[in-house]
Amino acid sequence: MRAALLHGPGDLRVEEVAEPEGEVVVRVTAATACGTDVKMLRHGHRVLEPYPARFGHETAGVREDTGERVLVGDSVACGACPPCRAGRPQLCRAMTWVLGGFAELIAVPAAALHAIPDGLAFAGAAMAEPLAACVHAVARAASSDARDAGVLGGGTMGLMLARLLVLEGRDVTLADRHAERRAQAEAMGARAVPALARHELVFEAVGRPEAWRAAVAAAAPGATIVLVGGCPGGTEVALPTGPLHYDELDVRGAFHHSRAEVDRALALLAAGAVDWRALAGETVGLDGLGAALRRGSGGEARKVVVDPWR
Ligand SMILES: [Zn+2]
Ligand SMILES: [Zn+2]
Repeated sequence: MRAALLHGPGDLRVEEVAEPEGEVVVRVTAATACGTDVKMLRHGHRVLEPYPARFGHETAGVREDTGERVLVGDSVACGACPPCRAGRPQLCRAMTWVLGGFAELIAVPAAALHAIPDGLAFAGAAMAEPLAACVHAVARAASSDARDAGVLGGGTMGLMLARLLVLEGRDVTLADRHAERRAQAEAMGARAVPALARHELVFEAVGRPEAWRAAVAAAAPGATIVLVGGCPGGTEVALPTGPLHYDELDVRGAFHHSRAEVDRALALLAAGAVDWRALAGETVGLDGLGAALRRGSGGEARKVVVDPWR
């Protein structure tokens, strides 16, 4: 079978490899790409080593054994470590990561699979992975009764966050410097501006130190700030002590998701509450993946869809 393999940072090759063996083999129908894949291609990633490594973690397809349509979850928590026992599986200390969606077939543990609701297309189902991380991030702010929320960054994660906050009944303002992304946010029911004013609830969805600082600067007294975008490994951010202390800012990280949050994301996509088509970009085959990841999306924020059989 054919698979996209990373041989090291910047070195992506599509090769003929042995058919994978594992608990369940899934024939991949659609795998969507995200900023993490771009990062993996450019700089490599600790979870990829040793090379060559398969990648792609937003994967939908058909079980070879039963013919069932499934989303391949990108992780299986151990269920036994302290965070797992405390009900926070996204922080599992012994996580099994399931990578390799950019291939014709993928072998996975059965525990990673989720049934795709009827009527939801494979490309839409694949987006349940990033949407689940947004469902989790929004849940991290569940204790905030702020009516008004700001989202920093209009990439696909920022747009998904804005949509989920609109669905919660909050008054949402998304900030992005690209007019095309502001128009996408408005189509999802948010207000859109080039830069945030002050908000009682702020989500950061950029993943750069200056954006983390901007999120704190956009916080009203007593605000909750949820940091969703991961900065490059080892990054440190200097934050002003004044507002953190005197304004009692509540700063929270948000990482990954639980199984239940993935199922919730699938249900939202199937119901049309989150319009995956508004976030889907071009569909490419494996041979077009490298160029598509390097090109990035200029104006609108849209996810590359890989159909490995095309
Ligand atoms: Zn992703
Ligand atoms: Zn665990």
